[in-house]
Amino acid sequence: MEPKELYDKLLSYYGPQHWWPGEGFEIAIGAILTQNTSWTNVEKALANLRKHKLLSPRRILDCDLAFLKKQLTPAGYYNQKAVYLRNLSQLWLIHSNPTREQLLSVKGIGAETADSILLYLLAQPEFVIDAYTVRISNRLGFGNSTKKNYWKRFYEQKLEADVHLYNEFHALFVIHAKIFCKKQDPLCQTCFLQEKCACGKKK
Ligand code: SF4
Repeated sequence: MEPKELYDKLLSYYGPQHWWPGEGFEIAIGAILTQNTSWTNVEKALANLRKHKLLSPRRILDCDLAFLKKQLTPAGYYNQKAVYLRNLSQLWLIHSNPTREQLLSVKGIGAETADSILLYLLAQPEFVIDAYTVRISNRLGFGNSTKKNYWKRFYEQKLEADVHLYNEFHALFVIHAKIFCKKQDPLCQTCFLQEKCACGKKK
């Protein structure tokens, strides 16, 4: 199976996922807040920020740091994330259309966060690789690597550089990892990909 066939199967099964929730700079904020926590927790922190009109780089920088941290509490790691949000806001006031390199130069922004911002906010064709994508790709037998860079190159070489495709594909990996391809005890017996999956065929 090729990645495009996988995409078609995932899309056919789950339908469009309508990512990323939110708009404008809120997407970049969400990309940072979602590090090491669930989206449910991110939504609570975003609601706090929205309530206090803290969804713009200028407002985040002008806000008292302790107050900002308090609003981020539901998302966890709020001390770090408040600083990361300020770092990103500083960059954004200088470069509102930053390159990948500029984003990666910001403390607190790694490849997954940078690519999420580039893809979902700035509509750049950067394939987002997360732990779910690595897990599913290895199990399917597309390759054998735990390196995110490896999989980013793999998908970007195999697929046309299409923002809509990349947008949907990443969201579909996430839902498939949560519903069938769980970290422990994947539900291979009922998974619609079993016949095409190296790991699933052994079950
Ligand atoms: S068959 Fe199993 S390992 Fe393969 S994609 Fe489905 S749940 Fe994951």
